[in-house]
Amino acid sequence: MTVRYETSTRIAIIGAGPAGLIAAEKLAGEGFAVDVYERMPSVARKFLMAGRGGLNLTHSEPLDAFLERYGAARDWLEPAIRAFPPSELTAWCEGLGQAVFTGSSGRIFPKSMKASPLLRAWLARLDALGVTIHTRHTWRGFDGAGRFLIAGPDGLDRPIEPDAVILALGGASWPRLGSRGEWTGWLKERGVEITPFTPSNAGFNARWSAVFRDRFAGEPLKTASFSHQGRTIRGEAMITAYGMEGGAIYALSASLRTAIEVEGRAVLTLDLAPDTSEEALVKRLDAAKPGQSLSNTLRKQARLSPLSAALLREAGAVPRDPQALAARIKACPITLTGMQGLDRAISSAGGIAHTSVDERFMLKAMPGVFVAGEMLDWEAPTGGYLLQAGFASGVAAARGVTGWLNPG
Ligand SMILES: Cc1cc2nc3c(=O)[nH]c(=O)nc-3n(C[C@H](O)[C@H](O)[C@H](O)COP(=O)(O)OP(=O)(O)OC[C@H]3O[C@@H](n4cnc5c(N)ncnc54)[C@H](O)[C@@H]3O)c2cc1C
Repeated sequence: MTVRYETSTRIAIIGAGPAGLIAAEKLAGEGFAVDVYERMPSVARKFLMAGRGGLNLTHSEPLDAFLERYGAARDWLEPAIRAFPPSELTAWCEGLGQAVFTGSSGRIFPKSMKASPLLRAWLARLDALGVTIHTRHTWRGFDGAGRFLIAGPDGLDRPIEPDAVILALGGASWPRLGSRGEWTGWLKERGVEITPFTPSNAGFNARWSAVFRDRFAGEPLKTASFSHQGRTIRGEAMITAYGMEGGAIYALSASLRTAIEVEGRAVLTLDLAPDTSEEALVKRLDAAKPGQSLSNTLRKQARLSPLSAALLREAGAVPRDPQALAARIKACPITLTGMQGLDRAISSAGGIAHTSVDERFMLKAMPGVFVAGEMLDWEAPTGGYLLQAGFASGVAAARGVTGWLNPG
């Protein structure tokens, strides 16, 4: 049975990204009076930015495999994602008039490949539900009585006194889009445990030779698999002037980042001939004509693209012996020396620790204050996992508010 609440019960949601807006939709749908406070002049800027890449909403793989993408945070997010799984997110998107399709990689996108038509329809729905969105309103901490202070366009801090609050402030990547992580100290003072923010889904630095950088920066590496610490990803990466970026690299970013933190470097292993066995490669290399140049052998016998052949050279002296050369092609070590910063990372790791949040997504140290989205300490690769967890945790926090205001 759906309980409808008196509109005199007011909920404040701070942060108008996907996590905050979906919570607003759910709570307004139950009859609460919902105020959303957003610091930027318009809402959901990071969501719109995600739309520039086609808006990969979620992924179609089986739910068990899907949940594994959250690594150590799986246990935390699983109940929320099972309650609002990819099928619900796509149904929600289609309910707003945006049909979806599943790409060959299993990723799910709106057919428009944009966020703006979806956001327009969503904002119209929120308006019809009576949600009030206050843009240019920034949360700036607490007053002496523990009330949330919100500064409007006049810059003056005013306390708000809602019946419950949802914080959906985002992580700390792309700070110019609004999520800056400046709130961590305010919550720490109130006993909330925070893991420092670090970049996730960001590129890594490599010391390319000038010749390689000039020739190949901006070129995609399409036929390769990428391994680090026992995990192998078949996918694509982009060579950049600073190093490498792209889906396959992002998928390994947590372990690469940790290796760099601990050892100052991470060795990424590329299989530059992922569709050919080492034995088959040796056979082909054995067939090289006597005196044939290395370049010709790599092109004709190993069938490497100019980029793959150049990567092999970047990794050090290239062996001539067929056996050793085949082994090198199948396991070409690329040393990564650093990670790109939060400014251009697609997402961040870190934020509010699981230990500080109860199963309703309420802060244990602050009854009545709920949290959702990327401000929580979980990370996941690209592929739709970020938005899915943002939406699902927003729905879970809204359900948490309802349960807390209506115990039993
Ligand atoms: C370039 C790029 C491409 C991406 N592509 C994809 C993709 O295809 N698929 C995918 O799954 N994910 C993608 N992501 C990630 C995804 O957009 C985020 O994970 C998602 O937006 C997080 O949602 P959120 O609601 O938790 O936070 P956010 O979207 O960051 O929203 C938080 C909101 O809170 C506001 N705010 C913060 N602090 C305050 C304050 N003190 N007072 C008031 N308001 C405040 C911010 O201005 C912001 O509007 C992409 C990200 C980037 C940068």
